[in-house]
Amino acid sequence: MNDISLRRFLVEDLEIESGFCVIMGREAHHMSRVLRMGRGDALVLLDGKGERFLAEIQSVSRDAVKIQIKKSIGHAPPSALEITLFQAVIKSASMDYLIQKTSELGVTRISPFFSSRSVVRLKGDRQRKKINRWREIAHSAAKQCDRDIPAEIRPPESFEKQLVSFSKAPGLKVILWERETSRDLKDLLQKHEPSGDFTGMVGPEGGFTPEEVSTAQRAGFIPVSMGSRILRAETASLVLVAIVQYEWGDLRMG
Ligand code: SAH
Repeated sequence: MNDISLRRFLVEDLEIESGFCVIMGREAHHMSRVLRMGRGDALVLLDGKGERFLAEIQSVSRDAVKIQIKKSIGHAPPSALEITLFQAVIKSASMDYLIQKTSELGVTRISPFFSSRSVVRLKGDRQRKKINRWREIAHSAAKQCDRDIPAEIRPPESFEKQLVSFSKAPGLKVILWERETSRDLKDLLQKHEPSGDFTGMVGPEGGFTPEEVSTAQRAGFIPVSMGSRILRAETASLVLVAIVQYEWGDLRMG
């Protein structure tokens, strides 16, 4: 059996000691109970940071699987296009959907924010739980679609704070604005020299205020329209990522 046909498991807190590691929790359950894998079965372990190992199950117990690392099979090639989605936090089910779908489409990182028309606000424990849930969704999506590195989910911040950290981001930066009348995404991407970095900003259910669009513009974001239909925030985000991948990225073979 070659490495390609082996099952892949993503363990983000992978700790290898003297050539062995012990896996617990969801991945262990998936291996031993769902797939009924056992001693001697070969697999590929991913550490979520791009490192890949050929490995073999040593033993299976009630809630843990001991695995022997056979060899490193190298680092995943870096993505030719890094897409950052600067995304307003939206209602729970829509945000989950957006994280899953943009992950499948190859978004590199999602940086959530709260802006003045945000309907959803999160704090403290609720926010921590939410971040964990979003990371789990990104993790499952990565597994499902064979990504070696799951989309990075940053902790949510205010619009202003996020803007400061993204104003220095390399590459093309756009803010999606349904009221923009002079520039559209299609034209901009087709005329712009493809670059290895793209940052797109998408607003909440209530949209951006004109002041927020001006602030973003001063931080180097170009306001663009995606046509006259007003899309729901989650639709806008996944259409954006799909379009950027289609024009500049890897929505193609090889
Ligand atoms: N409440 C607003 C719409 C918000 S849609 C209204 O009714 O006017 C949510 C987000 O999706 C927007 O902030 C914007 O970033 C993006 N969006 C939706 N449709 C868009 C379009 N046609 N062009 C550009 N951005 C769009």
